[in-house]
Amino acid sequence: MPQIFSDYIPLRQKVQRHQASGQRIGFVPTMGALHEGHLSLVKAAQQTCPVVVVSIFVNPLQFGPSEDFSRYPRTLEADIALLKTVGVDYIYTPTPDSMYPAGFSTNVQVHGVSDGLCGAARPGHFDGVATVVAKLLSQVGATDAYFGEKDYQQLCIIRRMVTDLCLSVFIHPVPTHREADGLAMSSRNRYLSEAERAQAAQLFATLSWAAAEIKQGASVPAILDISMQRLKEAGFSAIDYFELRQEETLTPLAVYASPARLLAAARLGQTRLIDNLKL
Ligand code: AMP
Repeated sequence: MPQIFSDYIPLRQKVQRHQASGQRIGFVPTMGALHEGHLSLVKAAQQTCPVVVVSIFVNPLQFGPSEDFSRYPRTLEADIALLKTVGVDYIYTPTPDSMYPAGFSTNVQVHGVSDGLCGAARPGHFDGVATVVAKLLSQVGATDAYFGEKDYQQLCIIRRMVTDLCLSVFIHPVPTHREADGLAMSSRNRYLSEAERAQAAQLFATLSWAAAEIKQGASVPAILDISMQRLKEAGFSAIDYFELRQEETLTPLAVYASPARLLAAARLGQTRLIDNLKL
């Protein structure tokens, strides 16, 4: 049975006791509405760490004023039940007031890797992510933390932040967990209507097609243009971006050079989907 904490101090005391006895502690931060993708992070953590902590916190700081903070799915009871089935040790459920008490004035900003992509489409989003992840890492004090490649730019930002601030935690990337038709699992997929859910698979299909073409030497700008056109034809209402970037620095690439990643974000009705693929 996992122990549930809404306050970080007793949780950190537990973690420190495990660490004092030489155990590694794996930490998986989430916003809840848990699915198999989140569980793949928990399983990765359990492979290296005998003790695993999962946090569930819908972070107001990372949502823009016209974004879905108030309607973001909150399914705490079901999340806890799911985490029980996989044998998580501790669940941390802070509240916005405890995370950001009156007078809170700090903002963690990671430059460079946050330029463009979701950083351009969602102004302020990555400041909110970096700030909450810095706080969560500090509150929990885990030795290892696990992040999905599904949110690839976020992963790069967190790695940069951990390096720059000398945080003593090892960051593990976990591959994207997908539905049978390739759609990357996401808490936001539950917003999709039946028709949109069928169209959504085209995002991964188009990324896969573009990756194959680029690897075979096709012109990068031409393939990116055709890909965006394909998504529009498949029913996506807006394409936020469809880009090829260097894998670590996220510098835009007009010509393919390994290691690289294709990254895309597009909207189906009210729902914004993101995905990416290593070339
Ligand atoms: P979220 O609850 O959406 O903030 O995600 C919490 C963590 O789970 C982040 O590190 C995400 O990248 C990761 N994650 C979300 N969906 C997936 C997925 N389909 N495959 C792997 N990791 C995922």
